[in-house]
Formats: sequence, structure tokens, C-alpha cells
Amino acid sequence: MGKVLTLPERQDAQGGWHQVLREVCYGCGCRYLSAEDDHDLVWEPGREVQSSCTDELCECHTAPVIGERRG
Ligand SMILES: [Zn+2]
Ligand SMILES: [Zn+2]
Repeated sequence: MGKVLTLPERQDAQGGWHQVLREVCYGCGCRYLSAEDDHDLVWEPGREVQSSCTDELCECHTAPVIGERRG
């Protein structure tokens, strides 16, 4: 039992590891991940369209950012 709450980790496009938080896409309602230490660094769902999705043509599906900074 550690004292620190452990968040899941993801590897970015440069190979570095980051703890990630779950966020909700404002465009379609799907979940994506953002780095805990850099909220512009995101992992979008791409083809993983969730059943609750309101816009399958949202950019998080059609042009996903995977382990890179958005923008
Ligand atoms: Zn979206
Ligand atoms: Zn979606």
C-alpha cells in the first residue's frame, strides 16, 4: 500500500512516460487521456468510438492526437 495514489501511465510520441488523467472530449463526449503534468499532451481515442459518442466525425476520431501536444 503506497502513500501516493498511482495514476495509469502512457508513453508519449517521444518515448517518455506520463501519468494520465481521464478527460471528456467537448466535441463528442468520448473519453480521452491527458498527461497529469502537461494537459496539452493528449491521447485521443481515434477509431475507438464509444457508444455514447455524439459525433463520430469529431477530430478526436478523424485526426487523433496520440501522445503529442495538441495544437
Ligand atoms: Zn471527440
Ligand atoms: Zn466520440
